[in-house]
Amino acid sequence: MHNHLIFKNIIEKKTPASIIYQDETITAFKDIQPKAPVHILIIPNFFIASSNDINKKNKWIIANMFEIAVHIAKKEKISQEGYRIIINCNKNGGQEINYLHMHLLGGKKLKSFF
Ligand code: AMP
Repeated sequence: MHNHLIFKNIIEKKTPASIIYQDETITAFKDIQPKAPVHILIIPNFFIASSNDINKKNKWIIANMFEIAVHIAKKEKISQEGYRIIINCNKNGGQEINYLHMHLLGGKKLKSFF
């Protein structure tokens, strides 16, 4: 599956997307099919296929992604009422794009999985 190129092209601005944040390590943009009033995807600027590929060397990127997710949640004014951060992994986790990404969802009461 080469669909990870979609996200690579968004980072490089070869594919149009609503980028709301970008720095040297992270890009964040609006999900094209939002599941909530606020639905942002946060990705590393370098390729990691899934959470299975997090290791001692690259684990710092998860902390960066998390910090940016919280920063965006505050900017989007969903932090007080709350939000959900999700990382799907592979088939059973429902991962469709094979490029590690964090979903930030909020702006409504989200259904419980449990
Ligand atoms: P996942 O199921 O965790 O792999 O999530 C992939 C997400 O990427 C889905 O919520 C899609 O709506 C979103 N998506 C796919 N293509 C694009 C795109 N070109 N721009 C923004 N979001 C996208």
